[in-house]
Amino acid sequence: MSDNRIYNFNAGPATLPLPVLEEIQESFLNYKSSGMSITEISHRSSWFDEVINDAVARTRRLLGLSDHYQVLFIQGGASMQFAMVPMNFLGDGDTADYVNTGTWSTKAIKEAKLLGKSHNVVASSEDRNFAYIPKNISFSKDAVYAHITSNNTIKGTQWADFPDTGDVPIISDMSSDFMCRPLEMKKFGMIYAGAQKNIGPAGVCMVIVREDLLARCPDILPSMLNYKTFADKNSMYNTPPCFSIYCIQLVLKWLEETIGGLGAMETINREKAALLYDFMDNTDFYNATADKDSRSLMNVTFRLPSEELEKQCIKEATENGMGGLKGHRSVGGCRASIYNAMPVDGVKALVAFMKAFEKKNG
Ligand SMILES: *Cc1c(COP(=O)(O)O)cnc(C)c1O
Repeated sequence: MSDNRIYNFNAGPATLPLPVLEEIQESFLNYKSSGMSITEISHRSSWFDEVINDAVARTRRLLGLSDHYQVLFIQGGASMQFAMVPMNFLGDGDTADYVNTGTWSTKAIKEAKLLGKSHNVVASSEDRNFAYIPKNISFSKDAVYAHITSNNTIKGTQWADFPDTGDVPIISDMSSDFMCRPLEMKKFGMIYAGAQKNIGPAGVCMVIVREDLLARCPDILPSMLNYKTFADKNSMYNTPPCFSIYCIQLVLKWLEETIGGLGAMETINREKAALLYDFMDNTDFYNATADKDSRSLMNVTFRLPSEELEKQCIKEATENGMGGLKGHRSVGGCRASIYNAMPVDGVKALVAFMKAFEKKNG
């Protein structure tokens, strides 16, 4: 099966660990001797109960979550969370802080605005096309939450450390770096992550939310837009995206048992990112676009001397078994997404290719 697979540098949906895909393939027609596929069984069956409970238990262990947090699976992607967060947590007289670090933060702010919720954009890196993470931000003391985007998938930046927001809980969109490193959970009131970047296939967003925020959800909201509905019913008020949750369970098992947890994952992620950035720092041919102290471990964005060369580079990389290196259509250039599931060998192959390409064209 692995013979004709490429190194997949897509930003999302993105590469998944090969052992996970193989396990899915192996068990696909007959899940645990049920005589049915995981896509055919009832979400009310004991088989699926075990899947979702194991996914939650592994999330709790990997992140060291206390009982004060709930782990939820919600459809509608991270984009739905942009609206659900202000809708659930901001009542009359409440306000929230937002930091604008790129396309996704901008969209999160847009939803708060559309809903007519009071919010302050306390910092932005728009002045330099979002090439950095703002520092020394003054957060409001009376905000219900401070919203950040921990990793900016399109701009190639990432918060190296999380800001000090005092007693105000951070809510972070971690779609593209969830589970890439250990977290100091006490800073966070909520974390959400569309699965299709770092923990599974598309179709579900994982939400980790603390009980003090859950207590704010107003009863007047439509059931499917209220976090309480999901918290009260173990994410099964209605039919959940069973297959996506099953895949997430297997990815988390791989993270725990094969990789050895988030500390070990971070070490590998740092090694991969360093291979690419160190190489680029030693040549003028490739230029990483993010400021050094804001560089992402997950999405490495870079430019070549001309758009023609970028096009040629992406084309030749594809011919050499390395796909998905085109930058987001809004920014151009190149982007190598090196999520958890990208092996070190994939990054080494990319660096070797880039070296050869430079030699020929530099
Ligand atoms: C991809 C992405 C999103 C959008 O996710 P959807 O699941 O498609 O709604 C939001 N935030 C970040 C940081 C992303 O990378």
